[in-house]
Amino acid sequence: MSTPPSRRSAPVAVAEPCAVTGCAGTPVRHLSLAEARRGLPDLPEKGRRAPLCRDHYKQWKKATRDARRLDRLGQ
Ligand SMILES: [Zn+2]
Repeated sequence: MSTPPSRRSAPVAVAEPCAVTGCAGTPVRHLSLAEARRGLPDLPEKGRRAPLCRDHYKQWKKATRDARRLDRLGQ
């Protein structure tokens, strides 16, 4: 009885790491770069999408929430 070699599914495309320089976190969210830079202005301008890890996504959310509130107050 020959057992077929265990078949692994094709390797999943390697996920890009978090877009923040120096961060190798696993992205939980993919934002467009323009959107991401609103909250994280020092993101490198590379590509069109910005994957963000959990921590940086949180940071981005916080930053954009504040910005949005200021926007509102300014009007
Ligand atoms: Zn990160």
